[in-house]
Amino acid sequence: MAAQDRMEKIVSLCKRRGFVNSASEIYGGFANSYNYGPYGSELKKNIKDLWWKKFVNNRSDIVGIDGPIILHPKLWEASGHTTSFNDAMVDCKECKSRFRADNIVEDATGQDLEGKLEQMKQLLDEKVNCPNCGKRNWSDVKNFNMMFKTSMNTTGVCDEAVAYLRPETAGAIFIEFKNILDSTRQKIPFGVAQIGKAFRNEIVAGNFIFRLREFEQMEIENFIAPDCDWQSMFEDWLVLQEEFAMELGAKKDKLRRYEHPKEKLSHYSKKTVDIEYEYPFGFKELYGLAHRSDFDLKVHSEKSGEKLEYFDEATNQRYIPHVLEPTFGLDRSILVALDSAYCEEEVNGEQRVVLKFPPKVAPVKAAIFPLLKNKPELVSVAKQVFDNLKTSFVCEFDDNGNIGKRYRRQDEIGTPFCITVDFDTLENDTVTIRDRDSLEQIRISSKELKDYINQKIA
Ligand code: ATP
Repeated sequence: MAAQDRMEKIVSLCKRRGFVNSASEIYGGFANSYNYGPYGSELKKNIKDLWWKKFVNNRSDIVGIDGPIILHPKLWEASGHTTSFNDAMVDCKECKSRFRADNIVEDATGQDLEGKLEQMKQLLDEKVNCPNCGKRNWSDVKNFNMMFKTSMNTTGVCDEAVAYLRPETAGAIFIEFKNILDSTRQKIPFGVAQIGKAFRNEIVAGNFIFRLREFEQMEIENFIAPDCDWQSMFEDWLVLQEEFAMELGAKKDKLRRYEHPKEKLSHYSKKTVDIEYEYPFGFKELYGLAHRSDFDLKVHSEKSGEKLEYFDEATNQRYIPHVLEPTFGLDRSILVALDSAYCEEEVNGEQRVVLKFPPKVAPVKAAIFPLLKNKPELVSVAKQVFDNLKTSFVCEFDDNGNIGKRYRRQDEIGTPFCITVDFDTLENDTVTIRDRDSLEQIRISSKELKDYINQKIA
């Protein structure tokens, strides 16, 4: 299937079945903002829960926080975001389209000129036609700050003070370092995790939920000693990030690593690697891992006057910890789960569309059907089965249409198990359970259903 077709099919399925749709549609839509519908929000929640369990609850060396979206503006001055969280922007004077200048220069010439505005302008004028209208008539290339500004009435009188919607979640972790340390008594090395919304006024958002202006991140700041063997920890984190992507369904050969060349690293970073995934539109960043040295704690110590240090009782040393930061985009994780799951197959001469999510990720775990809607005795037993299972798993009850149609609907939302209550159930309390992927149907006692599903999900 052609890549663009595949993407269009995934987008269309997402809208048709209530995973993701363009938001504010009744007002004509609103600049790349998306709504997660009933199945999309379950899918998102499952991914967040898996992440939190894997990286917080199942470990004793990582704790979680949930910081505010609007933080003190001085944080963003200290971190350099107000002055340098910029992308290069250029307009086509002919068709008025707006682009990220570095991206279109790289696409057309293969040259990566990030940060070099004058060289970008020169190459644009010499070699690059507008990807939209094909003409070549460019504006100047300008830096565009991606932070969303808002204002806050801080005093109760109406004096407007500028504040920002956070462009990444990490900031709150750094400025809370001392409180976290005091309240948890964690010993280095330890990590602090957070899941939450971040906002970036991207010059060009797009590719569905790949690049949004409002998105969610799952980040961990690992605080380490300055002189420790960070290289092996770095490698371990890359493996954990790849492992997490594979738990969402990604195939290993669709993942690759991209190490940022030395000359392109941020001035404070010792090493940065992106985990890329092959989306239908090509290999692009999914997750990132960076060694941020002591940059963050150091600048916040300097600018706030609060010492953000660690005292190592074993060595009697006091120091500013260094940081390894694995960062995971939640919306990109969802896109990976959808793309990895999407399948079209022929079954008995008919085509079926199926989302083969790993059971842990699937928004609905089991659907319960009475064989016939007009037989109250079947409907009532099926409702009992549903009531019994819904306390343990997200389940659906469906008595609409013939069984084949109900299966197709559940296949399209990726439900791993479909349970049918038929006339034999009334005799011997057994039900059929159909496996979404193998299509195999077995009969089991309705009392065994919970254990059976639990075992398959685990
Ligand atoms: P890109 O190069 O794609 O712009 P980035 O390097 O700026 O990404 P980071 O600042 O490292 O991204 O952000 C951490 C993670 O947050 C990314 O790996 C990605 O999964 C996610 N992310 C970043 N920007 C967006 C966005 N605009 N929409 C959705 N997810 C995003």
